[in-house]
Amino acid sequence: MARARDPIADLRRIAFLLERANEATYRVRAFRSAAKALAGLPAAELTERVGNGTLTELAGVGDVTARCVAESLAGEEPVYLRRLVATEGSDLDAEATALRAALRGDCHTHSDWSDGGSPIEEMALAAVELGHEYLVLTDHSPRLTVARGLTAERLRRQLDHVAQVNAALPEGFRILTGIEVDILADGSLDQDDDLLARLDVVVGSVHSGLKDERSKMTRRMLKAVANPHLDILGHVTGRMVSSRPAGVTGPGDRGHRARTRAESDFDAEAVFAACAEHDTAVEINSRPERQDPPKRLIRRALEAGCRFAINTDAHAPGQLDWQRFGCERAALCGVPADRVINTWSAEQLVAWTHTRT
Ligand SMILES: [Zn+2]
Ligand SMILES: [Zn+2]
Repeated sequence: MARARDPIADLRRIAFLLERANEATYRVRAFRSAAKALAGLPAAELTERVGNGTLTELAGVGDVTARCVAESLAGEEPVYLRRLVATEGSDLDAEATALRAALRGDCHTHSDWSDGGSPIEEMALAAVELGHEYLVLTDHSPRLTVARGLTAERLRRQLDHVAQVNAALPEGFRILTGIEVDILADGSLDQDDDLLARLDVVVGSVHSGLKDERSKMTRRMLKAVANPHLDILGHVTGRMVSSRPAGVTGPGDRGHRARTRAESDFDAEAVFAACAEHDTAVEINSRPERQDPPKRLIRRALEAGCRFAINTDAHAPGQLDWQRFGCERAALCGVPADRVINTWSAEQLVAWTHTRT
């Protein structure tokens, strides 16, 4: 019989690896305090609590640490630990560079048709210069009036315009049509179904009611993720970690300037399970002031089996080069290139979105 693992040793090992990777103190503390809480517990009680799911009733033990303990007691290396070990000692800089090099396009960008600062043509030319094979144009949907969201009629006109611009762009590059559609309060999407079906890529994001209580926000996100039109779940938590980065001015993200915002509250496990089930990609938003989702949630999405899209959410041509930031965070979390949909060619990407309709 295989000797059972020591859950406390596993928790301590995780804390150590997190510290060495210079992760946030509160995350390290979560594992250290769980290890401490369990150290005083008789073995029989530990087994019993894991069995009946009451481990989290102990002070200092949360969902994540409880799951590690359960896996460890079952004789398995906790998934959380496995991920940390997998990325430990590896050259993250080289991995982030490789991931960036593997990206062939960007699936979330804005033009001056909504709240971006530049015409579509300029965004496209900057993308060509970066070596991209495609750029998905995802201007905002009607309800986001502060960002000049496009009505159905304006979006139809944009589609005609994009076709003209594409005809004049270099061979081997194309603008793919798309939208960043608002996920409305009831989880429905803020654009006509026939248009959503016609677009190459649909990114869906929550921009309102970010302080909705947990169960409401979870229901809202689950409904959107299950919508077959939705391809990518945009900036998942809506957080703002810093004010506008130095040197960045101009339109875009109006109203977010010089403000931070907490993550919205939702059942991440349920939402990521739904993303995996419906094959909806989770966006890793590269904007420095967003860094969304946070790394702990990227890891959970990875564990849930989700695909990812590493996007810039660029509102200006220079911001198209921000993918590097998203790649660094993805590399820190051990996200492999084959889980990232914008490592695909435009043909593969569109084939995937169209099977989903
Ligand atoms: Zn957005
Ligand atoms: Zn956006």
